[in-house]
Amino acid sequence: MTTATLTQPAAPALAAFRCRVCGSTAEPGRHTAREMMFGTRQAFDYLQCAECGCLQIAQFPADPGAYYGGAYYSFTEDPADAYRSPAKNLLNRWRDQATLFLPGGDRLPFRVSVPHLRTGFEFLRRVPGLSLHSRMVDIGCGSGILLHRLHNAGFRDLTGADPFLAGGDRQVGRGFRMLARDAQSLDDGPYDIVLMNHSFEHVPDPAATMAAVARLLAPGGTAVIRVPLCDSEAWQRYGADWFQLDAPRHYYLHTQRSLRLLAGRAGLAVARVVHDSDHHQFTLSERYRDDVPLVRDPQRPDGKPSWAGLTEAQVQEFEALAQRLNAEGRGDQATFYLRHAQPA
Ligand SMILES: [Zn+2]
Repeated sequence: MTTATLTQPAAPALAAFRCRVCGSTAEPGRHTAREMMFGTRQAFDYLQCAECGCLQIAQFPADPGAYYGGAYYSFTEDPADAYRSPAKNLLNRWRDQATLFLPGGDRLPFRVSVPHLRTGFEFLRRVPGLSLHSRMVDIGCGSGILLHRLHNAGFRDLTGADPFLAGGDRQVGRGFRMLARDAQSLDDGPYDIVLMNHSFEHVPDPAATMAAVARLLAPGGTAVIRVPLCDSEAWQRYGADWFQLDAPRHYYLHTQRSLRLLAGRAGLAVARVVHDSDHHQFTLSERYRDDVPLVRDPQRPDGKPSWAGLTEAQVQEFEALAQRLNAEGRGDQATFYLRHAQPA
């Protein structure tokens, strides 16, 4: 042992906490989560507000782009590649329109499952007045997988926006453009539907983003914000191993309370909340707890992703539990439908 170990300076005093959502300075809960999508295992501190419950990253990474791109799933494929076959496009158009617009379309045997989104069109079906003429902006659209799908289905007023979009602004097709911007720098509109599909948790300034959503939203329009929620069984059960924490890409893990607070301040009212979590809140969190990253582990001899040794029956059991938690409002993600608040 050297004297150096005895003379280390005391740890610096912890910076005073101030919740970036509600402003509370009450002592927060402190957690350390690891980067586990790619398995770098780099550690990031998160603080949970004692008032609104919002779990927030303590310090923004110096180079956030370093944690996207490359193998990040939202950008790995060009969605246009999936639309090279006219026959398949026609079949998908018919199928997607039936799923979106027919009564009971979400229960059709050929219901749509959009790759990477882990969902079909259920969250869009519930938008009042949805039509092929709806003016829609998808903020944080990644490579635009959902918009390509909707464009093929016949939607003709589609805008995708993502600050990490490579190659800058471009017109993708008739009535479909992609912009390399965040919500605050969008300057047109208004839009009948402002969508943030698992992107709101990535933005550094949720209040400014929510204000931009309200500004972009047409009178009578609907903002659709889908987020992971930490007032959930999965956060309780897994803590920092909860896979939807997704350090450091997710800056904020909201609660219903913190989301409603932000919406209210922006002049928006929550018209409806639908919890739509699935078995991944358990199956993937089990995996993180076993120290297995999300993406394929090259160290494994078979090269296959591990499912933490779960059997199909166990996965089904977790799915049933997810549905029960959704019904109780304790699933680990939800869709918020927001409208302009009526003046009192
Ligand atoms: Zn707070």
